[in-house]
Amino acid sequence: MREQLRVLVVGAGIMGLSAAWALSARGFAVEVLDAAPPPNPRGASVDHHRLIRHAYGAQHHYMRMVDAAYAAWARMFADLGEHPLIETGILATDEGQGRTAWLQESRAAMRAHGLVVEDLPPAALPARFPWISAEAVKDAFFAPRGGVLLAGRIVELLARRLAPLITQARVVEVGDGRLRLADGRWLSADWVVVAAGPWAPRLLPGLAGRVTASRQVVVRLAPPQDLAEAWVRAPMLLDLSLEGGFYLVPPVAGTPIKIGDHSFTLQGDAEADDRAARPEEVSALLALAGRRIPGLERYRILGALACYYDVEPREEFILEPIAPRTVVMSGFSGHGFKFGAVLGEALANALADPALLPALGPWAAGRAAPAPGLLAPPRPELAA
Ligand SMILES: Cc1cc2nc3c(=O)[nH]c(=O)nc-3n(C[C@H](O)[C@H](O)[C@H](O)COP(=O)(O)OP(=O)(O)OC[C@H]3O[C@@H](n4cnc5c(N)ncnc54)[C@H](O)[C@@H]3O)c2cc1C
Repeated sequence: MREQLRVLVVGAGIMGLSAAWALSARGFAVEVLDAAPPPNPRGASVDHHRLIRHAYGAQHHYMRMVDAAYAAWARMFADLGEHPLIETGILATDEGQGRTAWLQESRAAMRAHGLVVEDLPPAALPARFPWISAEAVKDAFFAPRGGVLLAGRIVELLARRLAPLITQARVVEVGDGRLRLADGRWLSADWVVVAAGPWAPRLLPGLAGRVTASRQVVVRLAPPQDLAEAWVRAPMLLDLSLEGGFYLVPPVAGTPIKIGDHSFTLQGDAEADDRAARPEEVSALLALAGRRIPGLERYRILGALACYYDVEPREEFILEPIAPRTVVMSGFSGHGFKFGAVLGEALANALADPALLPALGPWAAGRAAPAPGLLAPPRPELAA
């Protein structure tokens, strides 16, 4: 019988847990180490929701990867016995200031990919979405595919499933196939996978030039009573206005409306205890969203907080060996969650067949098609 290979995974956010889930399904002996018990609310993965959408501008590779992401989530959710993904569709609006062709590129790419995209004359928007203002909107579309992953719930389900494999411990140093804990002990394994989210540049100083932790503010809102019914059926909103625009997550499954902006601050430190949003950060976000959502002063602010993610300048994922027996998962910026399950599966396939390892990084970075076998289901019974 083949000896069971051991893997140490650092980090129990969506990346570490998805990798651990797929590696266990592939027969590896896995131990996950996290400084905090999951779900860790200070991690990038733990919030009510994260969006999944094919609208990716000119980044056609990530648009195509969304199909693989949906398939991988379906396998994971079948295994977990719950389906925490709610389809809402996508509403994209653009003020047409000429700074970006993102909306037009998304529309063209999605249509070429065979997805339904409905052009919306701006003047028709308020009749269909009573909470929106079409003023200044020059272009808009609706696409029915796309939705909301209940992120915190997914992390909770994975953490519960993998509980026997999870140890609470801070890792202070990573070597090749080994790591040192805060209590001074060294642990070793056949592979080490580092999925430390916005803490990665602290733990792996070599990443510091490639990945930057970025403080991002989100505001949670409750709609006024007269609009509550219209909001229940609302799609996600991806808005491109002059200042870079904002995204809005609709209030699915009893969650609040959430708004956040598309601009990276590239400031702060995930370890720092500054998670309360400052009044000026909240005002700036509300001003941005107020261009599209009139009467925001009638919405109740349920909360505003700062979160961190790990930004790679081109927003390309880093999923590659940094030593012969150590792999890093990093640089997921503000768009990695939707790919958690598929990245975990691809990593598990590459560790099961190291001939696939050289193909892993270029695929995850959006530079190459998946090598045959890279996206295989981790267990035959999970195949669609
Ligand atoms: C506000 C916001 C909105 C976003 N919106 C979207 C979206 O709509 N769609 C989308 O696809 N993505 C989105 N993202 C991005 C996505 O959520 C992240 O890319 C993803 O969650 C990163 O997961 P992770 O597992 O790498 O990191 P994390 O979830 O941060 O997990 C890292 C874990 O590592 C642990 N850790 C760190 N250092 C150590 C150490 N030294 N020792 C032990 N443990 C350690 C931490 O405790 C933590 O639990 C968004 C992110 C944010 C913050």
